[in-house]
Amino acid sequence: MDTSQKKSRGKLVFKILAAAIVAFFLFAVVRYLLEEVPDPEYTAVDRSAVEEDPGNVYPVGNALVTSYLDTLPSYTGNDPEGLMLATYSIGNNGSLTKKELGSDATYTKEMQNLDEHTFIWNFYADIFQGVSEFSYLKTFIINTDGIENSLASVRLDENNVWELYIDPVDALKDGKIFDEQDFVYSLVHEFGHLLTLNESQADPGIYYEDDCSTVLLQEGCVFEKSYYNQYFMTFWEGDMFDAWYNDVDGAGEDAAYYFAIDHPDDFLTNYSSTAPEEDIAEVFANFVLRDKPAATPTTVAEEKLVFFYQFSDLVDIRQTIRDNIEQLDPKFFTRPLIIK
Ligand SMILES: [Zn+2]
Repeated sequence: MDTSQKKSRGKLVFKILAAAIVAFFLFAVVRYLLEEVPDPEYTAVDRSAVEEDPGNVYPVGNALVTSYLDTLPSYTGNDPEGLMLATYSIGNNGSLTKKELGSDATYTKEMQNLDEHTFIWNFYADIFQGVSEFSYLKTFIINTDGIENSLASVRLDENNVWELYIDPVDALKDGKIFDEQDFVYSLVHEFGHLLTLNESQADPGIYYEDDCSTVLLQEGCVFEKSYYNQYFMTFWEGDMFDAWYNDVDGAGEDAAYYFAIDHPDDFLTNYSSTAPEEDIAEVFANFVLRDKPAATPTTVAEEKLVFFYQFSDLVDIRQTIRDNIEQLDPKFFTRPLIIK
């Protein structure tokens, strides 16, 4: 065989090999750059990232309402609570009555966007209908704090009235719920607060540590037999709470994020370490939205995930909410739960 031919063939093989290595290297770099870094904060999700997955959009199809906030200037004010756009009182039958409108003329169209407000409210009410704790909620507030801050929250106001806040700019886009799973997860998390801190669970008339023999929260002193107290005594009382109190309480989101990293067996999500109240709400959301674990728990986080199964009332509530969600979207539970 001619040696020069052999040499050039060798060179060609070498060139192809080199090109393949370079291509593989480039591919790896691009993949690394595109890889999503998990967001340590529990906030509304990045809208652009979610829209690409049509399986995650509810309801697919034509716009149901007009989302004026898509085109109005996003709220950029300094108030961390954002801007109240419309307040409704909730009747015993779950109906809405307009109570108050915001005063910023920029948002007049959105303030009067009754179709959108009703659509959001009905979505919420459909999920929790048949659960008696739903009736603790007396006020529904359409509120905005700009894109990607708070999507939903519940709060016990100074008159001991439970309020639900929703920011349409994070819930809807083009008149549709743009990330159904994230929205439902957030609403179930918020319902976890209502379930664990309503007046059957905590006494809102107690304000001082000395008057409370259990745990004193902003919403009151939790009763001995409350879900919260039992949960707290099982998972937080003692070293865990002391460590959290020293490292995280009042220290901001980063401190909570690193606390969760330092306790990799204890928390279901990064947001769980923000506070015990948030931990129990996260556990409630995962209890409702995940399948019952088949395996025996081996970590504290796994123990938390099965904790609520000991309460038959909560097992019933879980089933009611899941049935309601399936009515809204029969495919909801066929998709893996991705926590953002
Ligand atoms: Zn919460």
